[in-house]
Amino acid sequence: MDFNLSQEEELFRRSVVEFAERYVKPNWVLVDDGKYPLINIVKRMSESGLLGVPFNSRYGGQDGSFTMSAIATEELAYADPSLATPVFYLLNTAWPFIVQRYGREEVKEEALPRVVKGVGFIGIASTEPQGGSDVASTRLEARRSDDSWSLYGEKNIVTGVSLIINDMDYGGFVTIARTAPPETRHRGLTTLLALVKKDGVVLNGFDYGSYEDIGRRGLATNYIRFNGLTVKESYTLGEVNAGFKILMEGFDIARVLIAAASIGVTRWLLDQSRDWIKSRVVFNKPIASYQSISFKYAELATRLEQARLLTYKAAWLTDRYFILNDSSVDILTVATFNAMAKMTAVELAVETALEAMRWFGGASYFKESNIARALLGALSYYVGAEGTGNIMRLIVARNLIGREVT
Ligand SMILES: Cc1cc2nc3c(=O)[nH]c(=O)nc-3n(C[C@H](O)[C@H](O)[C@H](O)COP(=O)(O)OP(=O)(O)OC[C@H]3O[C@@H](n4cnc5c(N)ncnc54)[C@H](O)[C@@H]3O)c2cc1C
Repeated sequence: MDFNLSQEEELFRRSVVEFAERYVKPNWVLVDDGKYPLINIVKRMSESGLLGVPFNSRYGGQDGSFTMSAIATEELAYADPSLATPVFYLLNTAWPFIVQRYGREEVKEEALPRVVKGVGFIGIASTEPQGGSDVASTRLEARRSDDSWSLYGEKNIVTGVSLIINDMDYGGFVTIARTAPPETRHRGLTTLLALVKKDGVVLNGFDYGSYEDIGRRGLATNYIRFNGLTVKESYTLGEVNAGFKILMEGFDIARVLIAAASIGVTRWLLDQSRDWIKSRVVFNKPIASYQSISFKYAELATRLEQARLLTYKAAWLTDRYFILNDSSVDILTVATFNAMAKMTAVELAVETALEAMRWFGGASYFKESNIARALLGALSYYVGAEGTGNIMRLIVARNLIGREVT
């Protein structure tokens, strides 16, 4: 057993830290305030070779790993605790990887190099108005004609539609649609790559709108209504009516990277807080001298270490299953660990942010302290994105106790 990063991983980590110090840290507050476009950072990421780490070099990727992707996501979150930059990064890693794994050759050759060049974004469009947790109840309809699908229905919470429309040449979503009657539940769903923009041209057959996000405001959340968007048959991912498992694999991958982002923001919060509690003098003593504060700090730092170990073990398992095809690791183990990691790290980030707000006192209530920006960013994953806390518990319980009783 070796708890060190490999030499290659450590060099990569240092290069991401250097990048983040230079391009992300000075701009993240401006990004959050809408005064500096995230796309500027994305272009720099592409120039620095940070995009497409686990993609095959055939498609411009680096033949890297999800451990490396997790390292990058953690460091980006440390530099941008509002989470706009790391969330862009992790979505545009996990979901294009699903295209690489299940897409037709010509689609991979079209999509993946554009992601790597920073001119393409592939996100996830799964959540529907009747409830995002129950994917098997998906209603978005994919109607088949000769060589294409036409989509009808709504995905009501989708990150990145306006990003693609305004700032990208190319992009769309791994989406899941009903291709057999509703009573077939998860056995009647197909996963598709639904493009909304190609070669700089916005496609017909959908409309969309933006929400006013309370946090992570550099990367907007949208709704999208499909009224006949055409998806060529060749953009089907995997087999028809076998899309549910494919989508779950994408969530498994995204979740370990979300855990890494949450580790990054927690580390940032604890570093900011350490400086503050040592320097803030109340009743003639630094507040760190009060054990109600220093003990809580020690507890949160310990839990950060626990969450990090769990997250990097999950990344290690993810690599074994998805990259190295190690037959001793099965998908249920990956799903279990990645759900555990997401649940643990996200909840820790939110708890740490709330504690930091208390330590900073009244000053934390104002944006100038930036702690609130981190809280609002972490909350996106606490309330739902890529699966709620209860759904993480459901996955772990089902896999450990058995579906028949849970
Ligand atoms: C900032 C942000 C960005 C997002 N981006 C995307 C995106 O890009 N693409 C996308 O598809 N979705 C996205 N989402 C949506 C997210 O995936 C959903 O919010 C999430 O899956 C939960 O779905 P829901 O909000 O409809 O809640 P519901 O499914 O309606 O759940 C409501 C509550 O009931 C609980 N619950 C449900 N079922 C059970 C159960 N069996 N046992 C116990 N409790 C249960 C849930 O835990 C939750 O607390 C985003 C969300 C946010 C906040």
